[in-house]
Amino acid sequence: METAANPKQEDAFRNYAEPARESVREFYRQNHAQQTHAFVLAKKADFLRFNRREMTWWDALDYLNTLVDDSDPDTALPQVDHLLQTAEAMRTDAQPDWMVLTGFIHDLGKVLCLFGEPQWAVVGDTFPTGCPYSSKVVYSEFFAANPDAKRHEYQTGTGIYAAGCGLSNVDMSWGHDEYLYHLVRDHLPLPAQYMIRFHSFYAWHREGAYDYLQDETDRAMLPWVRKFNPYDLYSKSAARPQLAALKPYYEDLMAKYLPLTVRF
Ligand code: FE
Ligand code: FE
Repeated sequence: METAANPKQEDAFRNYAEPARESVREFYRQNHAQQTHAFVLAKKADFLRFNRREMTWWDALDYLNTLVDDSDPDTALPQVDHLLQTAEAMRTDAQPDWMVLTGFIHDLGKVLCLFGEPQWAVVGDTFPTGCPYSSKVVYSEFFAANPDAKRHEYQTGTGIYAAGCGLSNVDMSWGHDEYLYHLVRDHLPLPAQYMIRFHSFYAWHREGAYDYLQDETDRAMLPWVRKFNPYDLYSKSAARPQLAALKPYYEDLMAKYLPLTVRF
């Protein structure tokens, strides 16, 4: 039992063999079957027009407070709690303020759910589309149901990509990482952009898969993505941060780097 005196051990996180919630396995069955390369291109063409609505970052946070992530075996708390736990752990370690801000906003792309998107098109681990599936991707057996699994040009060699083309030229499975990256890329330093864009790409940053897609910049940024990961993962606990007390600090931090409103 997880308590303050007896926190969850690190190897108890990301347990997909025996997930604490049955929704996790069902989530990946749907995600892997339906995230085709064509699906990703269609979602980019639609959502990267940013024509849904304009709202403040705090409005987006308020919405996230109502969302529980079905793909996550480690937390059933509202998302704002997860964002605060991530950012506060960074602040405790005296990480740079842009990184604390990155921790605080890294999952805000989940507002996609606000626009009616199903969770399999918003959350969960990400993977490259248009090139062979790696067994390092969680629940990779579910890719067998994806129409792209039968497309020779996607499942041979380096797929539709040139070796070393760089992850910025790869169409990752669509979700909150890629979406938020496009919303903040002009305002945050490159390591922050990588932390946001690739934080769910565990097959790359944890397992070392898809290294043939990397370029020099990806290799240089990988340590930053890895530095981000433990805060995202191991700060999850049942202890709820007090938003009201912390809000002034985060308001100032957001105002330092980000415009007040954003066009989603
Ligand atoms: Fe995330
Ligand atoms: Fe997260």
